[in-house]
Amino acid sequence: KTVVIGGGSGFIGTALSNLLRHCGYDVVVVSRVPGAFNTTWSDLEHNGLPKNTTAVVSLAGQNILDFKRKWNSGFQQTVRASRINTTSSLARAIEEAEIKPNVFVSISGVGYYPPDPIKEYTEYSAGGKDDYFAELCTDWEQSAKLPAEVGVRQVTIRSGVVLGRRGGMIAQLYFPFFFGMGGPVGSGQQYLPWIHLHDIARLFLHAIENQQVEGVLNGVSPNPTTSKEFARAFGSSLWRPALIPLPEFVCNILLGPERARMLTQGQKVIPKRTLESGFVYKYPDIRSACREFSPLIYTD
Ligand code: NDP
Repeated sequence: KTVVIGGGSGFIGTALSNLLRHCGYDVVVVSRVPGAFNTTWSDLEHNGLPKNTTAVVSLAGQNILDFKRKWNSGFQQTVRASRINTTSSLARAIEEAEIKPNVFVSISGVGYYPPDPIKEYTEYSAGGKDDYFAELCTDWEQSAKLPAEVGVRQVTIRSGVVLGRRGGMIAQLYFPFFFGMGGPVGSGQQYLPWIHLHDIARLFLHAIENQQVEGVLNGVSPNPTTSKEFARAFGSSLWRPALIPLPEFVCNILLGPERARMLTQGQKVIPKRTLESGFVYKYPDIRSACREFSPLIYTD
């Protein structure tokens, strides 16, 4: 049984590959760089999916919150192409495969829902058109769509910020918080939809293995958390106070106002269909998740 993962070399992809191998799957990563367990995007285009592919996963994407990159039209084009071209290449490979995989699971973001201080969003809520990120998510999800006659089950996971000790936001915040310089973003009242790395990897496995799972699943913890609550929990896992806020204007300068909204505003996202599908979280609340980032605990 082989699972093909576009962007499988990344933060989420590495966690998912490890979990899949642990569960007895072979993993083939589709990457820009060739390697022992990798195939390249042009190999995929020329040779198609490996023979015994049971599932295909789309996880590629240029990191949006890279402080070193200016938020200009060139970078926006890279952000877009790195998601949409890769996802549609995987979709095309599935369409062209003689023996189809069982399932195509693709990632998208909670940026699909417009930021709002009060509204609660489930998978049934409208969205996907209010700003650059919402439109990006719509087009990204669209690029994964297979015609019904292809007969392959599809799952879209709209992920919140993924928290894991070796990458993403936690890796970026570890040292500021460790030195007592951490705190909430802006007022701290905005929601920060998040999910633990182990849970998002388990959610992909859940989507791969359960035939009844299909459609959109919100990949967020079931207990909505504000930026302030996150800062307090992460600070206390490092025995630090986490009282120094990161002002909104600093985010605007560092990221540009459009991108900064990802941090300065938030959405209250509920994983309604995810829970209905029978998924059980290992880290349902922010304290349990942050405890895993404490220097005294090692669970990787
Ligand atoms: P990573 O930043 O770790 O990147 C994943 C992979 O994408 C990389 O390993 C790389 O593979 C490939 N990639 C990066 N840039 C490009 C590019 N310009 N063109 C083509 N491929 C590229 O991402 P994560 O694992 O953190 O996230 C995976 C996906 O999930 C991304 O699309 C991300 O937007 C989305 N997501 C992530 C969240 C998070 O908090 N981490 C939250 C919500 C959504 P290689 O170098 O092998 O080609």
